[in-house]
Amino acid sequence: MSFLNRVLRARALSSTETLLFVSRPFSSSSCVNSGTDLQLGASFPTKPPSSLTKISKDRNVQWVFLGCPGVGKGTYASRLSNMLGVPHIATGDLVRDELASSGPLASQLAEIVNHGKLVSDEIIINLLSKRLEAGEAKGESGFILDGFPRTIRQAEILEGVTDIDLVVNLKLQEEALVAKCLGRRICSECGGNYNVACIDIKGENGSPRMYMAPLLPPAHCESKLITRPDDTEEVVKERLRIYNEMTRPVEEFYRSRGKLLEFNLPGGIPESWPKLLQALNLEDHDDKQSAAA
Ligand code: ADP
Repeated sequence: MSFLNRVLRARALSSTETLLFVSRPFSSSSCVNSGTDLQLGASFPTKPPSSLTKISKDRNVQWVFLGCPGVGKGTYASRLSNMLGVPHIATGDLVRDELASSGPLASQLAEIVNHGKLVSDEIIINLLSKRLEAGEAKGESGFILDGFPRTIRQAEILEGVTDIDLVVNLKLQEEALVAKCLGRRICSECGGNYNVACIDIKGENGSPRMYMAPLLPPAHCESKLITRPDDTEEVVKERLRIYNEMTRPVEEFYRSRGKLLEFNLPGGIPESWPKLLQALNLEDHDDKQSAAA
């Protein structure tokens, strides 16, 4: 078991531990943007300083994706993980795998997840730890975390065990988020992710029109589509409320450390992907083509 994993587990499981984290000095590279709010995307097309997105030659990237339910964290994190050759670890997927396994935790988790609540930090860290351990056994290193950390305590635990290089905060207006969650469909056979929603929001007060074409399944998946049980309007609204209450402060946690890259999605994948690569200083990356694989 790696050092990261051992400590992650110990921190999560020790019930008596008081979580005291002494703030550590940051390296000169991570200090550059300290306290600044890097606004990127369609409305702020400036590039971030390359120090923030610089990829080290010594180890694989350790990135985090933040963003409200439905924003597209999974889509973009997965594309980047293919491109950069690091695992995409989505804690929501780990929870859904546990639910599907009908193990001892399944009924307890279903009750929480299907009501849009957060699973306890202990359970999530336990699932994440197991995933990291399995990956390590296969020789994985680096990661793109999606859906973790989601509470300040999770962020503190993560900070206590490793240095995150960059946190990408994806943003979309709430109207689009709800429509995207309600339109989400998954192929029960191949696991492919699709979206039947056609989003077209008029621009107001100088903001541009937001158009997102549906992402329709191929004919062989059409009859096998399922909807996530937590993608109902009521539960999506609850997930958004919980995001604002529990996860929004995590944005500030990383913003104050100069690690947060804000990215306003300008539209669907065709418009957003090239702009995201640009924002990450990856537009010239050799493996750009492999990303959507
Ligand atoms: P979303 O689309 O809301 O971002 P995810 O697929 O990331 O959803 O997660 C689905 C559910 O799994 C969450 O609503 C929550 O119940 C649980 N979950 C996932 N990650 C975490 C986490 N880091 N902490 C607590 N609960 C989590």
